[in-house]
Amino acid sequence: MSTKSMGLHNRKQPHVMCRRCGKESYLKRKHYCSHCGYGRTAKIRAYSWLSKDINGVRRR
Ligand SMILES: [Zn+2]
Repeated sequence: MSTKSMGLHNRKQPHVMCRRCGKESYLKRKHYCSHCGYGRTAKIRAYSWLSKDINGVRRR
């Protein structure tokens, strides 16, 4: 771990902000969000522990 230039190689983050869940979990290369599943499935990746935010209570 002494090569200086190697330090720059993993600075680029693979994730960008997901427009659905707002987390930085959207994978640029795979075009889906690893958090909510945006882009991977039409259904929202919702579990009981996060469904409050997405599927449940909050409705407009
Ligand atoms: Zn997301």
